[in-house]
This record gives sequence, structure tokens and C-alpha cells, in this order.
Amino acid sequence: MKLIVANWKMHKTRAEAGAYARELAATIGGGIDGRELVLAPSFTALAEARDERGRWSIACQNVAAEAGGAFTGEVSAAQAREAGCRYAIVGHSERRRLFGEEGPVLAKKLQRCREAGLTPIYCLGETLEERDAGETPAILASQVETLASDPRELPLVAAYEPVWAIGTGRAARPEDAESARRLLAGLLAGRTDFRLLYGGSVTPENAPALSSQTAFEGFLVGGASLTPAAFAAIARA
Ligand code: PEP
Repeated sequence: MKLIVANWKMHKTRAEAGAYARELAATIGGGIDGRELVLAPSFTALAEARDERGRWSIACQNVAAEAGGAFTGEVSAAQAREAGCRYAIVGHSERRRLFGEEGPVLAKKLQRCREAGLTPIYCLGETLEERDAGETPAILASQVETLASDPRELPLVAAYEPVWAIGTGRAARPEDAESARRLLAGLLAGRTDFRLLYGGSVTPENAPALSSQTAFEGFLVGGASLTPAAFAAIARA
């Protein structure tokens, strides 16, 4: 079962999310064989993005590092779970880069997810400078280190998202993505239940090659997931 996740980022009002859900339902009918679909809207639109018929599940894009209390503006993992989320994105490069989230805070977020029964979609990947300096293996290893205290037997989704490929229209070449996937599979070998996704400028046009020339178990899709037709086309690829 391949996993295809739509990361809407800070797009879509509740009305737009509802319209998207209706259009996606019309596009996929009873669902897409062999595909698990997930929508990750803003917290405000979780209810509208849900599918009563279970053809897709929902994820939040972030959770608080603390379980609850006086943390104005934060949303806890338990609150997200109660709102219907099955997954939570943790460690997206925009959170790392724009909000300064690093290993220790991400480890706490992972722990909060586990306490609440959310499966983390843990994102990791190198910048262009790190890639050019030959540091990709070391960077991925240090990002995997954040998972050290995450229970190895619990299901984990890890999304390899090279930072230079996110939102740039420049997806990784399948052979480069595949070599990073192999590295990650080795780094995660002690775990019993994990799926590896690729993310970074996936489109309906490049998804077939990324799918057939790599062994990733799905995609994390940003920009191209904003229209149901493109998201469904990627899922079918
Ligand atoms: C993302 O934000 O996780 C992402 C992969 O974005 P895009 O598909 O737009 O590169």
C-alpha cells in the first residue's frame, strides 16, 4: 500500500477545504487501489477535510512539544488526535528553517505524538550546500538520531525531502532520491515498521519516474496537492 500525503501548508479556508474534499471524492470514487491517501490541512480546516467514508485520513502539519498548559497559540497532539488526525507531520524543513526547530524539540514532538496515538510523518533531508559538500549521509544520520528514543516497534513514516527540492520545481533525480532512500533504510534498519516517502516538487509529470525508478513507498506532496486532480494523478502514478 503506497502512502500519498497532501501537505497543504498554510493554504485553504474551511470552505475551500470542503470543496476540495468533495472534488477529491468525485475524482477517486470508491478510492484508489493500493493507495492510502492523507490530507494535511491547517488545524482550522481539519473537520472539512475529513472523509466520512474513510477513503483518506487526515494529518496535522505540526504539534506542540508540550502535552498541554500555558502555551498560547499551540495545538497539542492530543487535541489533534481528538480532531480526527491519524498522522502528524514533524520536522518539516519549513519548521526547521523558519521556526528554528531542531533535534531536541522534535524529539519531544515525536514523544507527544506517541502519547496521543498519532503516527509521525518525520521529515528529513539535506540543504543544497550540504549536498554539494558531500554531507548528505552525515546530515541524514544526525536527523535520524532524533528518533533515538522513539519506540522502534511503533509504526513510523519518514519522508526524505531534500530542502533544495521543496517548492522549487526541481525534484531530485530518481537515482539521487534512491541513493538517499537506501541510506535512510540502512539508518532505520533497527526499526520493525517504517515507510519511506519522497517529497520535493513531486508533480503528476515526474511521479511516474520517481515511482518506477525508486523504492519509496509513497510521496509527500506540497504544491501539486492543492488541486484534487493533480493529487489524485500523483496517487495513481
Ligand atoms: C512539502 O512541503 O513537503 C513539499 C514536498 O512541497 P512541494 O511538493 O511543493 O515541493
